[in-house]
Amino acid sequence: MSFTADAEIITKALTHFRENSISAQRPVINQECLETLIHKLNLRSYIRSGGLTKENLSEFINQYLSYATRLHHPSYFGHQCAPTHYAGALGSFVDGFTNNVMAVYEMGPAAASIEYFMINWLLEKVGWQPAPLKLSSKSNQSDFGGGVLVNGGSIANLTALIIARNRIVPEVWQEGSPPDLAILSPSESHYSIDKAAGILGIGKNSIYSLEVDGKGAIVPEKLPVALNRLLNDGKRPIALIANACSTSVGIYDPLEEIAAFCRENHLWLHVDGAHGASALISEKHKGCLKGVEKADSLIWDAHKLLQTPSLCAALLVREHRHLDTGIHQEASYLFHEKEQPGFDFIQRTIECTKSGLGVKLFFVVAAIGEKGLAEYIDKQYDLAMKSYEYIQKQNDFECPVVPQSNILCFRIEGSDQKQISIRNKLTAEGSFYLTTTLFNEKRYLRLVFMSSNTRLLEVHNLIDRIREINDVVEKFGRDQNAF
Ligand SMILES: *Cc1c(COP(=O)(O)O)cnc(C)c1O
Repeated sequence: MSFTADAEIITKALTHFRENSISAQRPVINQECLETLIHKLNLRSYIRSGGLTKENLSEFINQYLSYATRLHHPSYFGHQCAPTHYAGALGSFVDGFTNNVMAVYEMGPAAASIEYFMINWLLEKVGWQPAPLKLSSKSNQSDFGGGVLVNGGSIANLTALIIARNRIVPEVWQEGSPPDLAILSPSESHYSIDKAAGILGIGKNSIYSLEVDGKGAIVPEKLPVALNRLLNDGKRPIALIANACSTSVGIYDPLEEIAAFCRENHLWLHVDGAHGASALISEKHKGCLKGVEKADSLIWDAHKLLQTPSLCAALLVREHRHLDTGIHQEASYLFHEKEQPGFDFIQRTIECTKSGLGVKLFFVVAAIGEKGLAEYIDKQYDLAMKSYEYIQKQNDFECPVVPQSNILCFRIEGSDQKQISIRNKLTAEGSFYLTTTLFNEKRYLRLVFMSSNTRLLEVHNLIDRIREINDVVEKFGRDQNAF
């Protein structure tokens, strides 16, 4: 059967890909230009005549993988995407094959049950009440949590703000959005928050910036100033947003104090934990999110620190009823009145057709256990700290903040342009893959310790390589074309 034969070809190729990545026998990134790749991959011919099977498939997949960016590579410090556990990829495969679009229970009872169960697992990590497994009309009480898995943190943030808005203006689905809505958000927020606000019709002028300290963390004592400013402008706040942790430098906002302020002022607290909520699994690092259980909603990307293939983002709420009534115009009719043995997630999402995102997350957790994930998170967070200690000791380098997560920013002395030139050179030669970020108006090189194959040695080598590149820059001038 060509399925098993072709699947074996793919499995073999991926095994080599993984081995060559881990052993660093190939560059972490190999950026050929688009036009050449379309040609090399023979795309046109396959579209015309098909035939991507057997030897063709083998040749194609090897070619494809030689241009794939290698997230398992020890020199991968790039975007916050999981170097996946292979078990998660198998979960993806099963989900793709069965295509059980489980937003209505009957289209995928097993996938829907897994999502329900995994949401409960996440809720418990937050300190929220999991939903009952036996659904009854009694389960309409508000004392348990709820959630849904969606395609990414950006959609999860948008969904959270939709339900927060619904609490303030329940008539919005009939009347449309009023012009006086606003949100409170720190300048360090991910840009998906601005995007979500825009989509909701909340313009930039109605996003009230919360004051942050030198680390980019919200200053709780300054919260009343921002709220008063908003109220004096005659606006109504739908939510206050806090980061756990920030995207740029990975710093956690002080949730305990922020939550107390929000409770006092009846504000919806939304915590953007897309990256850093995974610390909740670690005994050692869960303290970073102290107070999160007092928030109203939280987003948590499994495709970042939970080794799960993209996309798999959880939107979680302390009280499920907000989610069950906030997205769809009618109340939670699907929950109780339809005679069925399971649960429909459809009333909780923007999406209609929805894949079984919980399956890939479950496969990972089930393969290595919660403990395995906790060990991974501890290792990555600790490595960021050790790397910080090492870099801080170098006279020609500096870090803007002490890391709290697996994100570490630093720069070599010199201009912003120099940091960018160095990054470009590293990417072009394929030796290290990292990003840069602007923080407090300065450009930094940014390391995200995602690969469990990275050791402190890679950081030593990176610093050495940056110095070598820097010497060339100094010699031949600042022009990045010098490379
Ligand atoms: C990554 C990230 C997002 C966006 O999540 P996607 O899954 O990429 O859409 C939002 N907020 C924070 C803090 C993030 O780190």
